[in-house]
Amino acid sequence: MENIFGLTIQEIDKRCHELQMPSYRSKQIADWIYHKSANSFEGMNNLPKDLRIALAAQFSILKAECIKQWDSTDGVTTKFLLRFFDGVTVETVLMRQPYGNSVCISTQAGCAMGCAFCASTLHGVTRNLTTGEMLAEVFWVNDYLHIKNQKVDTMVLMGSGEPMMNYDNVLGFLRLIHEKYCLNFGYRNITISTSGVIPGIKRLEKEDLPITLSISLHAANDNLRSELMPINKKYPIHDVIAAGKAYSETTRRRVTYEYILIHDVNDTDKDAYDLANLLRGQMANVNLIPINPVRERNWKRPPKERVGEFLNILEKMHIPTTVRREMGTDIQAACGQLRNQYECGIEREFFD
Ligand code: SF4
Repeated sequence: MENIFGLTIQEIDKRCHELQMPSYRSKQIADWIYHKSANSFEGMNNLPKDLRIALAAQFSILKAECIKQWDSTDGVTTKFLLRFFDGVTVETVLMRQPYGNSVCISTQAGCAMGCAFCASTLHGVTRNLTTGEMLAEVFWVNDYLHIKNQKVDTMVLMGSGEPMMNYDNVLGFLRLIHEKYCLNFGYRNITISTSGVIPGIKRLEKEDLPITLSISLHAANDNLRSELMPINKKYPIHDVIAAGKAYSETTRRRVTYEYILIHDVNDTDKDAYDLANLLRGQMANVNLIPINPVRERNWKRPPKERVGEFLNILEKMHIPTTVRREMGTDIQAACGQLRNQYECGIEREFFD
């Protein structure tokens, strides 16, 4: 049975033709699915009953079910473990920011990129998420916020998975969620994060959409970056920075470079100067992220003073820099940690 959730209106229209339904029915169906968040055809009371029966016989409306939820003690972050029809699980995170509700979306179940600091990649990638499954992540959080009369305001594709390795589904999802018949979600409120997959950055540049690009850098030289992020062996640092520069010049949008600070690994003064020199003259800013310790690896978070000194050097070198607000450490908010614990059956140890 085909899942209708995640289809574009043109695709729904095509199905309507096959069922000999007039075109205006596709608009009604899309309205029920995407505006009224219907979970079955039964209640679509502006459709004739025989049509509802025919639709139910041919299509399902499958989204995601939440099997675990964790709230940080500061009330800022809520993390959901969502499960899809085949039992595959992903993490989706709601962050209540001063500027609104931001949701962090997973684009793959697991990840194949092998970044040394990341729990999402420990068991590799299970599969790509479909357009409808990524949309279901947003719908889940929107439905959750609905009781408080709130909604998702901004979105970052920064959960588990490398979006550029699932490019067609990711772009399909972004185009769909932007449509008025769906959530009318502004491209300017979307950030795509990549580990530096250059062909994906170039494809996105050609789409000419005002989407913010975020590149995970995490080191300022090839040797260290290849150690932390194996993708660097394929796409070395200078080529990644050049692709980021081209993206910002075409889209006129500032590229964000993410830099996880790991004590005694990439947080020296020299690292800060090297980073500033790499980005000099580019429309870019840096987001410093003191690492959330990952149980499976032996990385330490730098002391506050070290973070401050690193920040000062970048600012002195005229690189706009922010330090990510500490969020959700008490619920293991680094991507992939909760899913791993759930799938390994050891979550009780962490959360009791
Ligand atoms: S940081 Fe991102 S790209 Fe790297 S392994 Fe984790 S999910 Fe994959």
